[in-house]
Formats: sequence, structure tokens, C-alpha cells
Amino acid sequence: MSADKHVAITPRLFPGSQDAEGQQMTLGVVGGGQLGRMFVHAAQRLGYFTAVLEPDAQSPAGQVSHHHIQTGYDDPAGLAQLANLCQAITTEFENVPAQALQTLALTRPVAPGAAVVGIAQNRIEEKAHFVACAELSGVTCAPYAVLETPAQLQAVQHDRAELLPGILKTARMGYDGKGQVRVKTADELAAAWAELGGVACVLEKMLPLTAECSVLVARGWDGQVVSFAPQRNVHVDGILAVTHAYEGSMPAALADRARAAAISIAQHLGYVGVLCVEFFVVDDGSEHGGLVVNEMAPRPHNSGHYTIDACDASQFDLQVHAMAGLPLPQPRQHSPSIMLNLLGDVWFDAGHLREPDWYAVLSLPGTHLHLYGKLEARAGRKMGHLTITGPDVASVKATAQRAAELLGLPGLDAI
Ligand code: ATP
Ligand code: MG
Repeated sequence: MSADKHVAITPRLFPGSQDAEGQQMTLGVVGGGQLGRMFVHAAQRLGYFTAVLEPDAQSPAGQVSHHHIQTGYDDPAGLAQLANLCQAITTEFENVPAQALQTLALTRPVAPGAAVVGIAQNRIEEKAHFVACAELSGVTCAPYAVLETPAQLQAVQHDRAELLPGILKTARMGYDGKGQVRVKTADELAAAWAELGGVACVLEKMLPLTAECSVLVARGWDGQVVSFAPQRNVHVDGILAVTHAYEGSMPAALADRARAAAISIAQHLGYVGVLCVEFFVVDDGSEHGGLVVNEMAPRPHNSGHYTIDACDASQFDLQVHAMAGLPLPQPRQHSPSIMLNLLGDVWFDAGHLREPDWYAVLSLPGTHLHLYGKLEARAGRKMGHLTITGPDVASVKATAQRAAELLGLPGLDAI
């Protein structure tokens, strides 16, 4: 569909080398969050210099990068400086201004490109894309209606009763369950839309989920595609809490379908870089349940953090390879793994700030702690994650359960 416009050269940027102007090979990232930080780690391990564009002085990625350009994401001078310093540029957060990527793409390879990021930023366009490639991918999204005008609201209220109960989601700027209201009746729908300020939304039918999973795909400038096996995700209050990444974490038949669908969605977009596609497993009466595509993130994703410790190439390694035009290794998972997200809540005990007992947690076998360098713990804020690896699924589960207890997280069988 929308092959992205990018500068006509296919980059082949070798780490540790210099470009024609004698500049050290430098990879840039727009955004300074934890995804940017882990991208910087991967790029530096390979020998690249890095530059981060991020207004916050203390950002997770800015702290660890060679260069930190401290301006707004759409600041012309900041963008020019980033383009000057870097031979290729990526992004790390969902709501990066697509215009900024377009500006950068005038002079530098940008992956993923502004056009695909723009599609993923708008649920209306995103769902239209899923519908457009449903035949190819073999999955479609939940039944939905677009809500942009009062007339559309009335039409939905009168003619689309099958969408209720449903979830009203703002078309833009939603993440971690924000910008979403659950509605049961036509009246609740009208009230919720008014509460959201009448902005463009989609109303999605509430589906009977039995599980959720996601697939990480990486695609190069030359169309080469590699992928990780699907991982099963558990959310609490709309935020990812646990990722189960091991054989048997979901039925093989479903996992194969999800993986194939994610690959075809990436290919259909002409995508370059790492893409995460999220799926619902729904109870449709069939043996393993049906698969429904939920949304996509045009970047590495929280559900792929386990790949750092459990695979021989991580999602961040693949992002580096893809944007730099290096070969994409088909990653191999060498250990079963569970990832526990560490939200700011872990730093509080009955309302009192406390340091989690890292000593006890790190005494458990196969625990890998990643903290993002955020200076203030707040409820719901992603502060880090803990990946557990081990020789077999049973020991990984037992260690994850013990770690969850030590950290005061909900028990794994409780969520
Ligand atoms: P993310 O942090 O993944 O970007 P988000 O804010 O974009 O999240 P969604 O992924 O759309 O939101 O929804 C968050 C969670 O709400 C889902 O993971 C799922 O648990 C639940 N949910 C969303 N849509 C539906 C639906 N149609 N039926 C049932 N549950 C749903
Ligand atoms: Mg989601």
C-alpha cells in the first residue's frame, strides 16, 4: 500500500567507520525514553555513536547517549542538528510528530518512515490498514465504527447495536489504556464521547478475550524479514504486566497464524525497522480460539524486552541492523523467559516510598534487572523490568512467582 518515501539510498552503515565527511558513524533516535535507552545500548555495543533528540534533561536515553540534543521533537534547529550528526535516524515513541520524521527524511534515511508511523498513530487509519490486508494476513480487527461527527454517533446509536458493550478509543494519542472508555449503552456512548471532547474516535466491540499476544517483526530496506515467536502478554489496568515467552505459552497453531499475519502486515506497509503487532485471542467456539489483530507499534515494544536476555539477538539489535542496512539475523531464543514489568508502584509500600529489595530479587537464579534511570517513581510509571530466564519453563515460572512475591506484584496465577 504505502511504500514510504525515504531518501533514495539504501544505507549500509558500518559501525566504527566514518562517513564521506569524516564523521563517526552515528545513529540517531527521536525520543529519550526507555526504548531509546535500550536502542542506544544496542547501537553502542556494535560500535556506533548515538544521538538522542529529547527535551527532558534527565531522560533515560539522553543519559547514556554520546550526544543529547535537548530541544522539542519538532524544533527545526534540533532536527537539523540531529540530521547533521547522524547517518540514519529512528524513533522510539508512538506519538513522535510525523512531520519531524518527514523533515529528517529529506536528508537522511529514517526508519520507520513518517507515513507508516502516521498510520500507526491513528486508530482509524490503522484499522483501515488491517482491514485492507485482512485477506493477505488472514486476520482482521474487532468490529468497529468510526466516530468523528454527531451524525456518525447517531448512526452508530441506531444501527450498530452489535458494537455494544464496546470500548470507545480516541483515534490519536492513546497508550497504556489512556483515552479509552468502556460503554454499555447508546446513552453511555454519547456521554463518553462528550467527555472525550468529541474528538475523532473509534467504537470497538468488546470481545471475550481469552488471551493476548504480540509479534515482533523486523524488516530491512531490501525487504528481508525476520521475526520472533509470538509472546503471550498479560495486562493489568490496561498496562502490560507480564510477558510469557516460551514454547507452549500459547497454542502452536495460533502462534503460527499470529506470526504469519504480523509478517504480512509489515510487508504490506513496506515497513523498515522493528514493528510490534498486538493480537487478541477470542473465544469463538473453536478449539484454540480465534485471532483478532488489535494494534501495531512502529518500534520495539515492551513485550519484546525479554529478547535482550533470552535471545541471541534482541529487538533493539534488530532495529540497529535494519536502519543501518546490516544483514538481519533470524533471532534464536535460547532460554524460556518471563518478563515482569516494574511500575513505580513497586517503590511504594502502603503509600510509603521504599527501595525494592533488589538484593533478594537478584539472589534468585536467572534474574536480569533493567532499570531505566528514571529519577522519580510514580504509580503507573514504567521504571524498569525484570526478565527471568532458566533451563526450563517450570523453573522460570517458579522464579518469576518468587520475584513477584518479593516485589509485591500480583501473583502470576492471579493475573
Ligand atoms: P498500548 O499500551 O498497548 O498502546 P493502548 O492504550 O493503545 O495500549 P489497547 O491496546 O487498544 O490500548 O487496549 C488496552 C487493553 O485493553 C488491551 O490490551 C486489552 O486488554 C483491552 N482491550 C482493548 N480493546 C479491547 C476489546 N475490543 N475487547 C476487549 N478488551 C479490549
Ligand atoms: Mg495495546
